[in-house]
Amino acid sequence: MVPKGYTAITLFPFVFIKHDFLKGDKRFVNHEKIHLRQQLELLILPFFVWYALEFLIRYLHYRCCSLAYRNISFEQEAYAHEGSLGYLNRLPFWSFMRYL
Ligand SMILES: [Zn+2]
Repeated sequence: MVPKGYTAITLFPFVFIKHDFLKGDKRFVNHEKIHLRQQLELLILPFFVWYALEFLIRYLHYRCCSLAYRNISFEQEAYAHEGSLGYLNRLPFWSFMRYL
């Protein structure tokens, strides 16, 4: 279910993870929860369209899959705040827009 090179896939309302021990990793769980919130805020389907389009645009820019992935606004927000466990409680609506 989870593609090679990735540890998890978040498809609201589910998070598919590659390794069970990750469930105990608060930072990892918070990262995926941020994605759940982003998906909800975009009413799910548009999130994936936007995510794929932004990946494509970033890939054309960087010509590197991992750089393109890390620079997607949704990933930038999740990576920037995954260590801040209270982030979801104070996350402004559509806050990923700050990373565009
Ligand atoms: Zn992510």
